[in-house]
Amino acid sequence: SEVVSALADPEERDAEASVRPKRLGEFIGQHRVREQLDLLLRSAVRRGSAPDHILLSGSPGLGKTTLAMIVAAELGSGLRITSGPAIERSGDLAAVLTSLAEGDVLFIDEIHRIAKPAEELLYSAMEDFRVDVVVGKGPGATAIPLDVEPFTLVGATTRAGLLTGPMRDRFGFVAHLDFYEPDELEQVVTRSSRILGVPVAEDGAVEIAGRSRGTPRIANRLLRRVRDYAEVRADGIVTREVARAALRVYDVDELGLDRLDRAVLTALVSSFGGGPVGLSTLAVAVGEQPDTVEEVCEPFLVRAGLLARTPRGRVATASGWRHLGKTPPNGIF
Ligand code: ATP
Repeated sequence: SEVVSALADPEERDAEASVRPKRLGEFIGQHRVREQLDLLLRSAVRRGSAPDHILLSGSPGLGKTTLAMIVAAELGSGLRITSGPAIERSGDLAAVLTSLAEGDVLFIDEIHRIAKPAEELLYSAMEDFRVDVVVGKGPGATAIPLDVEPFTLVGATTRAGLLTGPMRDRFGFVAHLDFYEPDELEQVVTRSSRILGVPVAEDGAVEIAGRSRGTPRIANRLLRRVRDYAEVRADGIVTREVARAALRVYDVDELGLDRLDRAVLTALVSSFGGGPVGLSTLAVAVGEQPDTVEEVCEPFLVRAGLLARTPRGRVATASGWRHLGKTPPNGIF
């Protein structure tokens, strides 16, 4: 079941865009980040200059792209969107940078995956608003300095720890997005249901919010799937019963765990006696890349209190055992 994956699905782009908050005032939750950003943006608008570069970190689907779009909207600026993996050569980045208009916002998603030569080019663009484009190779190579209009870089990363020191230092504003609380996700569901014209009862919104793994992207996706069910098998109204029945069809459990999360937890408990076990061994046991297990499953399993990361490896907590219907061994908390 991919229905509770926090990762973006290209086929959902239009559906996501229709419910995306456009201004800071519509953005739900993340109060601290919102307040800090509000100050940063308002003061920049007052001064009539571009604000400091902004780094947003956090798990997939928590609103980094949405915030980048909001930054541009609040500043009344143009927005260019690219991603670390899309910038293979420094020339690609130089072309983007030199085509920016004054005050534009450049959003680079997955900025930790940018190629090294491009990263170095980005340093000088961020700091001095100029880039040196190297033409030719070997002894005849020459560096041509090019001016870049003052711009604001918004970098997003799911792995703030992988950013190099010099890169991180060039961001004047660094914010971490946390998972959302159930009442905030309920607001996300209610807001989206209004935009989509889906009648949702309060207990229906609570049910969807509770299974969304703290992630607005998942809340919106579950809402769309529950809406389908409500329209085909019920009277179109999303109540708690309708939401529960629909989510049973999609194999989403009460905590919002999907197939892979359950596989990780089950392997940990059944194959490794609850751990401790190393990340790569665990990943092999569930047939996934260690990165996927670490970045997609674990943050939520840890937050839900089902799994703990210890210096000796991953361990299942007592709640983790119980979630699988098993009795935790003595001494496990
Ligand atoms: P990725 O790292 O995978 O690109 P992301 O962090 O950039 O994810 P977004 O694309 O910004 O996530 O958000 C995913 C969806 O969740 C969007 O459709 C957006 O409407 C919704 N969303 C995110 N944050 C909020 C919020 N605070 N309030 C309401 N909706 C939100």
